[in-house]
Amino acid sequence: MKAAVVNEFKQKLEIKEVEKPSLDYGEVLVKIEACGVCHTDLHAAHGDWPVKPKLPLIPGHEGVGIVTEVGEGVKSVKVGDRVGIPWLYSACGECEYCLSGQETLCPHQLNGGYSIDGGYAEYCKAPADYVARIPKHLDPVEIAPILCAGVTTYKALKISGAKPGDWVAIYGIGGLGHIALQYAKAMGFNVVAVDISDEKSQLAKQLGADIAINGLEKDPVEAIHQEVGGVQASISVAVTKIAFEQAYQSVKRGGTLVVVGLPHDTLPIPIFNTVLNGVTVKGSIVGTRKDMQEAIDFVARGKVRANIETAPLEKINEVFEQMEKGKINGRIVLTID
Ligand code: NAD
Ligand code: ZN
Ligand code: ZN
Repeated sequence: MKAAVVNEFKQKLEIKEVEKPSLDYGEVLVKIEACGVCHTDLHAAHGDWPVKPKLPLIPGHEGVGIVTEVGEGVKSVKVGDRVGIPWLYSACGECEYCLSGQETLCPHQLNGGYSIDGGYAEYCKAPADYVARIPKHLDPVEIAPILCAGVTTYKALKISGAKPGDWVAIYGIGGLGHIALQYAKAMGFNVVAVDISDEKSQLAKQLGADIAINGLEKDPVEAIHQEVGGVQASISVAVTKIAFEQAYQSVKRGGTLVVVGLPHDTLPIPIFNTVLNGVTVKGSIVGTRKDMQEAIDFVARGKVRANIETAPLEKINEVFEQMEKGKINGRIVLTID
């Protein structure tokens, strides 16, 4: 089968023929129709993080396709079903985190397109119990970004402590952020969107942001405190340290910073302000299978819609270049024929 492969960090991906995966107990084979390109895939290809992915690697954790084969023991999924293969590729199902509804913290989890091959390929296999079920009427291209960008930002908002009517700030209106702001609106929050270009501000406005700020033109922290008195929650989905610092400073007393973006960096937090203002800082990693069902349901009901451009799998290196320059308006979804 055809796949895009990372052979070495910081090198171009190679489009090549590799062996089609063979199924083990409980697994399904999926013919991939579409796979979104997440900035995490770029981190993986660069080896950016302290925990490195496998090499060679087929990236991709927003793969959607049709089940063409089911392994021994599979009962819940059948041939012909449309499913998605997410970052939470599998978990142990038995540890304290799995048992308490926190499977995204499972220390034994495998991650699609990172510790195991993912969706930048004609076929991908996955454990039936962990694939996302995609309602029949949804377009695979449209749903692909929900597999990561959608569920991740929905979950971050869910745990942010913000209530309907509260103000939230989204820092970084990229693949994750442009969807985050739609979930935020659908959940009843008022939204300030911050990025560093006029195109991103325009996109944010189009998608319903109440206030859109170009952080290169004015100081977002000052503007947020002046215009809305600070936000109840800030979600940082940018890939630069300064956005996290500003996101922290944008929260009002009693507010929460949810850390989602993953630059390999540290976030210095002022102890005095954190204590006196009762600020909470939380990390958030993708979402559970239940969060996934909920995130998909928003799309199925027409409340959230990713802004998508498609590109053939063969163009992945060009897509990564565009992503590095911050030039993508929403999400690029690879199509695989
Ligand atoms: P992206 O490249 O599509 O978007 C990043 C956005 O941040 C761009 O629009 C860019 O212009 C903007 N940005 C850059 N500097 C900024 C600044 N100073 N202020 C405001 N915005 C700024 O990337 P993405 O696919 O949305 O992923 C974002 C990050 O989230 C990546 O680090 C990725 O690895 C991480 N991620 C985390 C999780 C999780 O579960 N925690 C899940 C998926 C992705
Ligand atoms: Zn992702
Ligand atoms: Zn576990």
